[in-house]
Amino acid sequence: MHQIFFLPPTDTYFTDSPSTCDPACLCSHCGQIIHAGQNIVRGWTDETPRREYRYHARCLGFKSRDELACDCFDETRGSANVR
Ligand SMILES: [Zn+2]
Repeated sequence: MHQIFFLPPTDTYFTDSPSTCDPACLCSHCGQIIHAGQNIVRGWTDETPRREYRYHARCLGFKSRDELACDCFDETRGSANVR
């Protein structure tokens, strides 16, 4: 079964694909860094050049499992997901 996503035109796309925790690894929806302990969803268009959309799982509305903090987590932004 296929799940079809419709990308909101307000979401940002990227032409790079940095690793989680990279300051450039921003969420297409909320614009915040996606950290290594967080669930990430990446999707690519079939255009040329390829565009990447990437999201915190929660920004797509998934009820994600507990997210772990990683070394680069910025505690000034909140600690709701920190154990
Ligand atoms: Zn997000």
